[in-house]
Amino acid sequence: MSCPYLGECKSPKEFATGPIYRRRYCSQTPQSCARFQLAQYWPLEEIPLWMRPTMMAHAELLLRNRERGVVEIPAQMPARIPLSTV
Ligand code: SF4
Repeated sequence: MSCPYLGECKSPKEFATGPIYRRRYCSQTPQSCARFQLAQYWPLEEIPLWMRPTMMAHAELLLRNRERGVVEIPAQMPARIPLSTV
């Protein structure tokens, strides 16, 4: 199954890593892509480019924070994403 976001997502268009992402995620297993998981809850244009398909741990933290009401995705890649205690 190809990813439904393939046409609008920026990661598969990146110069060096884009072809790798397309092969590994976009054209085969989008469900295992961090950006795909976040796109189930945020508009794709709100998911910054620093969020790579490989960053599932970051995505899981953002999703857990979202369940606690923290819906903002940092514009810059943080050293770590603190788990919300709200
Ligand atoms: S990088 Fe992820 S969200 Fe973007 S098109 Fe590929 S599989 Fe879909």
